[in-house]
Amino acid sequence: MRLSRAQDFTEIGYYRPLRAAAEAAGFVWHEAGHFHALPYVLLRSGHGSGAEVPRVYLSAGIHGDEPAGSLAVLEGLRGGLFDRGVAWDIFPALNPGGLARGTRENPGGIDLNRDYRLLTAPETRLHAHWIECGESPYDLYISLHEDWEARGFYLYEINTSGGPSMSAAILSAVETFLPLEPGPVVDGHRLRAPGWIYHPPEPDEPEGWPEAIFHCKKRPLNSYTLETPSALPLRRRVDAHLAAVRAAIRVLLTESRKTGD
Ligand SMILES: [Zn+2]
Repeated sequence: MRLSRAQDFTEIGYYRPLRAAAEAAGFVWHEAGHFHALPYVLLRSGHGSGAEVPRVYLSAGIHGDEPAGSLAVLEGLRGGLFDRGVAWDIFPALNPGGLARGTRENPGGIDLNRDYRLLTAPETRLHAHWIECGESPYDLYISLHEDWEARGFYLYEINTSGGPSMSAAILSAVETFLPLEPGPVVDGHRLRAPGWIYHPPEPDEPEGWPEAIFHCKKRPLNSYTLETPSALPLRRRVDAHLAAVRAAIRVLLTESRKTGD
């Protein structure tokens, strides 16, 4: 796939190719609504609710100036990244208007990833409703982000599930494509190791809940919020997201085979 920073997050530039790739990969395309004339999409793999496979949640594009995650979803669908041994719920573009404009916030000026307590934006309200109506807990949560100030890749792990930590495997896979953020502090958080923030299951701002905190207030969660450094080439940032997701799924499938569920 040809990548440029001016990637066109329009119906023709992103959503049509996304739908074609998703359906070719066996995903069902759900449009939960429309924002700014663009679809608000959930991609669900074709497993029935009784399927005995791990359930994985993946989201991207909640900040419209962070294109690599949404592009990685498209490329992952085309490249067979999304393992059939997993039941996937994928939200590829949580801020359609912001992505189309290249702004962090939605067109109403709201940072959606600080809006999961107050639910002031229509996008967040719709998303929260979908999550609340969801069935069993997810075995793994991954959210794809970027950071304009970072020098290297880093992640936030919030793990209240008792599940295995996947951070070491993710960081090791990413290192092929990007340097790891050396720290000692990034975004106000002290690193446990290069690239690794181990975050408590509480928001940094009491009213400003991000998506991951909303999830972990509902159910136990093994979650990874991945941050690629925006200053480095887009190709490497997309590759790093793809490698990170692949590594996490490898750990998940190995562990679920061990425990036999
Ligand atoms: Zn972000």
